Amino acid sequence: MKEKTFNVRTTAREEIVIVTDEVHRALGEIGGGEGICTIVVPHTTCAIAVNENADPDVPADLTKALRALVPNVPFRHGEGNSDAHFLSMLIGCSLTWPYRNGKLILGTWQGIYFVELDGPRTRHVTVYVP
Ligand code: ZN
Repeated sequence: MKEKTFNVRTTAREEIVIVTDEVHRALGEIGGGEGICTIVVPHTTCAIAVNENADPDVPADLTKALRALVPNVPFRHGEGNSDAHFLSMLIGCSLTWPYRNGKLILGTWQGIYFVELDGPRTRHVTVYVP
C-alpha cells in the first residue's frame, strides 16, 4: 500500500475546505494510475465528504445546517467539544472513491469536502492506494 498525507489549516471552528486539488496532487505523488483510493482524516472532530464544488454558498449553508443538527442534550465530555465529535461520527472520517489517470472520478459538481468541526487547527488528510 502507498500513502500520502497533506495538511489542512482551518481558520474557524466550523469550516468546509474543498481539498479536491490536494487529493489529486497526493494521488499523482503516489503513482497516479487508476483504482480505488481511501481518503482518511485521522481525527475525531472533523470529517470528510463529497458535495458541490461550484457555489461557495453551499459549504457555508451546510456548515450552518450541521450546527443546527446538534441535539440539545447535556454533554458530559470535559473538552466541551462533544458537538464536534457527534457531527464527525455522523459524516464519517473516511471516503472510498475510484480514480483514473491520478484524478478522482467525480461528477461535474462534486468536490472533496474537508469538514472542520472544532477548529481552527492544522489537520491531516491521508490518501491510500493499494
Ligand atoms: Zn473532545
